[in-house]
Amino acid sequence: MNADILLGLQWGDEGKGKIVDVLTPKYDIIARFQGGPNAGHTLVFNNVKHVLHTIPSGIFRANAMNVIGNGVVIDPYIFKEEIDKLVAHGIDVKSKIIISSKAHIIMPSHKALDEAYENDKGDKKIGSTKKGIGPTYTDKIARTGLRVGDILLDFNAIYNSRKQQHAKILANYSYSFDIVAYEQKWFEGIALIKSMQIIDTEYYINKQLRSGKSVLCEGAQGTLLDIEFGSYPFVTSSNTISAGACVGLGISPKVVGKVFGIFKAYCTRVGSGPFPTELFDETGALMQKYGNEFGSTTGRPRRCGWLDLVALKYAIMLNGVTQLFMMKIDVMNTFDTIKVCTGYSYKGEVIDYMPNDIEGVVPVYKEFKGWNCELPSNSYADLPQEIKTYIEFIETETGVPVQIISTGPEREKTIIR
Ligand code: GDP
Repeated sequence: MNADILLGLQWGDEGKGKIVDVLTPKYDIIARFQGGPNAGHTLVFNNVKHVLHTIPSGIFRANAMNVIGNGVVIDPYIFKEEIDKLVAHGIDVKSKIIISSKAHIIMPSHKALDEAYENDKGDKKIGSTKKGIGPTYTDKIARTGLRVGDILLDFNAIYNSRKQQHAKILANYSYSFDIVAYEQKWFEGIALIKSMQIIDTEYYINKQLRSGKSVLCEGAQGTLLDIEFGSYPFVTSSNTISAGACVGLGISPKVVGKVFGIFKAYCTRVGSGPFPTELFDETGALMQKYGNEFGSTTGRPRRCGWLDLVALKYAIMLNGVTQLFMMKIDVMNTFDTIKVCTGYSYKGEVIDYMPNDIEGVVPVYKEFKGWNCELPSNSYADLPQEIKTYIEFIETETGVPVQIISTGPEREKTIIR
């Protein structure tokens, strides 16, 4: 079988959690390939809201196995909290998760380093979530990281040696994070991970694919935050694009099947960084309010703006998207006019690509008539013509079909064409 990939095409928070949940019944294995607990995938069903940070969204399905791949970074403290909450809801967690021995561990001192580096940037802050993710990936590339497989070795010795290295760096910075206070629960998390299934997940996934099992690779954050292609330095520390699934799970590009690209009917961004279509007016405030655009991990308000087709086409190109899933169209139900950015005005001309110095662009918009009504839950035919015109314009511009349209946070509010 092939491995399909599901990922965000914007700056994250596109609604990936809901869609993975809709798709998981079709897959035997759900695998996370990058990112850390800065991800916050929200799933709502049976009137209970669940936010997953490190655990793949297949955890709520009895028949799915969940893989935390080598490309992921794990904070044992947060991981344990997440597992405890799921167990409290009666979910069988331990037997349904497999962790890569090569995944890297976020240490308490990584969190202190994150805060120290961000403080040091003064007014040039990148808006880090200060969860230690950047410093953990830095150590991975510097070949000084701590990995899950180390838990099965002389862990305390390895841990203390890494911690001492961090202490030398931290001595030059100011930070308030209390490493010692965090350590107790962090070590409880390490003990929990040790009691779980730690294996070389690349062998597992490839074997399962060969035996006909289906795999869904679940991306976190979004394409425009990719370390290579996002608006550097306002990016995350991992490859969020489809190629990241190969690296972060140990699968060949030859086994990749469909690439599902998720986007919101408008745009949001958390933290600093360029955002060409950002709105600073009443419409932007309404998007924030109706879309409940506050981070599921940090609670930070998300910046809001119109859909940016230049950015969407860039994301589609980088990922090889085969199907588009449009989320949160209901947020614009009361808008008289809907705008879509079709190009950028840049150095005296209109361009259709994202220039490296994107700060200098001014969006060029096409206007659409709003639909001004509540939406049906699951019938494309019953959607108002104004939405169909909007969706079909996006399909024509991108050349990719919009296969799913989400009209609300609940599982049931999903139109599949
Ligand atoms: P993710 O990180 O990509 O999974 O996105 P988040 O979970 O952080 O943000 C998506 C938010 O939008 C969550 O609160 C979802 O419950 C909610 N959501 C998902 N789809 C829809 C939708 O179609 N309409 C509305 N109004 N909310 C949605």
